[in-house]
Amino acid sequence: MRGGKDVVVLDRRAEPGGRIRTERRDGFLVEHGPNSMISPAPGAEHLVAALGLAAERIEKGEDVRHRYLVRGGRAHALPLDPLGFFSSSFFSLGGRLRLLGEAFIRRGPADESVAAFVRRRFGRELLDYVFDPLVGGIYAGNPEQLSITALLPRLKQLEMRYGSVVRGVAAKAVAGMDPRFDPRRRKLCSFREGMASLPLRLAQALGSRIRSGVRVEGIVPRAGGGFGLTLRDGEDAARLRVAGVVVALPAYAAGRVLAPLAADVGTALGAIEHPPLAVVALGYRRAQVSHALDGLGVLTPTVERRGVLGLIFSSTLFVHRAPDGHVLLTAYVGGARQPELALLPREELLALVRAEAEDLLGCRGQPAFDSVRYWRQGLPQPDLAHARRIAALRQAEAEFPGLAITGNYVAGVSTSACIDEAIAAAGRVMRQPMQESALAERRAEASSILRSA
Ligand SMILES: Cc1cc2nc3c(=O)[nH]c(=O)nc-3n(C[C@H](O)[C@H](O)[C@H](O)COP(=O)(O)OP(=O)(O)OC[C@H]3O[C@@H](n4cnc5c(N)ncnc54)[C@H](O)[C@@H]3O)c2cc1C
Repeated sequence: MRGGKDVVVLDRRAEPGGRIRTERRDGFLVEHGPNSMISPAPGAEHLVAALGLAAERIEKGEDVRHRYLVRGGRAHALPLDPLGFFSSSFFSLGGRLRLLGEAFIRRGPADESVAAFVRRRFGRELLDYVFDPLVGGIYAGNPEQLSITALLPRLKQLEMRYGSVVRGVAAKAVAGMDPRFDPRRRKLCSFREGMASLPLRLAQALGSRIRSGVRVEGIVPRAGGGFGLTLRDGEDAARLRVAGVVVALPAYAAGRVLAPLAADVGTALGAIEHPPLAVVALGYRRAQVSHALDGLGVLTPTVERRGVLGLIFSSTLFVHRAPDGHVLLTAYVGGARQPELALLPREELLALVRAEAEDLLGCRGQPAFDSVRYWRQGLPQPDLAHARRIAALRQAEAEFPGLAITGNYVAGVSTSACIDEAIAAAGRVMRQPMQESALAERRAEASSILRSA
């Protein structure tokens, strides 16, 4: 019972957590999905505290001193703080002056691709060596195809409000920035036993209210209010009547499930691309690696034509990720940039990543450990049609009281954003007064239980 309402969680997988998957093997701890969360984020903080996980929460390791970017075939160390980063000699003098000139660039259209926005405001060099690897690292995406309003809404808002991102950032710094958006206060965190601690603890708290291995196939409205859910539990089909429903599925699954309710939403969500992505973890003895690994990891711009989107220095990022005397690296391959590479057979994929790790980080010889995960449908790619899709989804919510739609395609892929959105979606359903017919049904159910007791 939550807020006076019975809650049931239906998940098609046996294990809770969706994209969050932690593997503990041979002393290594591998994250096949998110390796960290961004804090402070109100929903995530609240959830961690409510689940009693605060003591298990860990922050990035003390050896994380740089972020690395590849240029000219080499990994360059850049400072973590934005000022040091952008003033670094990694960028040409022309590129740095172009950044300052941003204050004088006129406002652009309401939406455009990330690439068009960045080229227009900051110039080609920042697109190639900052935004492209960033979009590759977070979305495994191509900035030429993705919408600036969907991916980096705060940058677009600064342009619209202050006429310039640089002027907007300066004005906010003077006024005192909202800590959630202040890059100096943002931290990466995880848990001692990995990201899966969060869904596992949540599932424990939900107890029998979570029904694993149950696939929702469709949702239809019921006359008089509420919804009918078509379910598949193994070979068995079933129906479930509910007063309200939060659809928190990947876009392609939500599209299928919502199609009987709102065909246009089904089509719109089904059209969001999810290029394949492969995650390859390699463990080495420390002596096999010449690089200091003193950072978050290394990102590769498209113009550098590498075989990986980036490599996270997992055992530097968080403690307890590799046995003593060993290090762990996690590579991301494919995405919108090179989807074909994410489908390579396992041995070819491992060979590709080993070659990249050797070239960029000086990893020599056979790794002591490896692990591969294929995501056939990786991360959603919000393109220029995205705002229209979200509008269709909100329209469906307005049309069907008690329906809320959330997921990583709504307000950003980060785990923290997903938690915030999911809490907001649950709130919309909880606040929805229960339809009279559903209440009558409940009363009838309750009295029949009382009679049989
Ligand atoms: C390789 C990788 C690395 C990432 N790295 C980071 C990172 O470092 N930091 C970060 O913040 N984020 C990261 N992300 C993004 C983040 O993990 C996801 O965006 C987020 O976890 C998505 O959460 P979600 O609940 O929206 O969807 P999901 O986690 O996909 O959950 C959807 C759930 O729906 C269930 N489901 C699907 N269909 C049905 C159905 N028909 N009926 C019932 N249940 C169904 C699934 O079983 C699943 O449990 C990464 C993602 C990937 C893939």
